[in-house]
Amino acid sequence: MMSQTRLAEQPAQANWHGASLELRDLTLAYGPIDVLRGVSLKIAPGTTTCIIGPSGSGKSTLLRGINRLHEPKSGDVFLADRSVLRDKPDALRLRIGMVFQHFNLFPDHSALENVALAPWKVKGLPKAQAFAIARQRLEEVGLGPRADQHPRDLSGGQQQRVAIARALAMDPEVMLFDEATSALDPELVKGVLTLMADLCRRGMTMVVVTHEMGFARKVADQVVFMDEGEIVEAGSPSAIFDAPQSPRLQRFLSEVL
Ligand code: ADP
Ligand code: MG
Repeated sequence: MMSQTRLAEQPAQANWHGASLELRDLTLAYGPIDVLRGVSLKIAPGTTTCIIGPSGSGKSTLLRGINRLHEPKSGDVFLADRSVLRDKPDALRLRIGMVFQHFNLFPDHSALENVALAPWKVKGLPKAQAFAIARQRLEEVGLGPRADQHPRDLSGGQQQRVAIARALAMDPEVMLFDEATSALDPELVKGVLTLMADLCRRGMTMVVVTHEMGFARKVADQVVFMDEGEIVEAGSPSAIFDAPQSPRLQRFLSEVL
């Protein structure tokens, strides 16, 4: 009886059903300048791809191309084997969650409201259902007890976990992370990385731009090194970190490791 009660109180750990993702010869430009130049990449469902590379190499632009925050100049992106260019960008953003360096939470709403708003207002779920989902997601990221607090009363790491819960509340097929831990104090980084590794283990498809080489080595199924708007090298963590082929990757690793 006792253990049953405890079980009932445990949030069910969702198993995610990540979709496949493929970039085919994707080129993105700002004005006359191509900042992403013919990038092709295949990502299997439920895998984690870490993108590494120097500042300005096009990592954020690549993520923005995937969820069409930036329209491609040429090439295409396939989500679950279907071209994303066939759908409206808004529809796509329901299916792809994104987490930024700066958490971009709504300051005047509680953590729970931050997570519930999109399922309620954007997806159109009944309010009670949206809030029930939000509560569950907050519990999954370890913030159930803080549901009623406002962002200003949470640490940076907690705010980032709210942002992750908010993205997960939309039941995404892919999660994109753009330097999600770069703005955090060092002691708060680990909790967020642990949460990300957990999402990966539970089947989410993740594309993670990161400077955390330890995370890339341990969690990634593939690591992609970008420089000057191109994929210079891609492979398993051990191929990239232990046996880098190109001089550009060798130089980059010698600077960051
Ligand atoms: P990273 O995320 O790897 O640091 P970005 O994708 O942000 O690189 O940027 C790639 C290139 O695109 C850089 O040369 C950057 O200056 C340029 N860029 C990024 N955003 C814009 C913008 N809004 N307008 C013009 N150029 C931009
Ligand atoms: Mg960036």
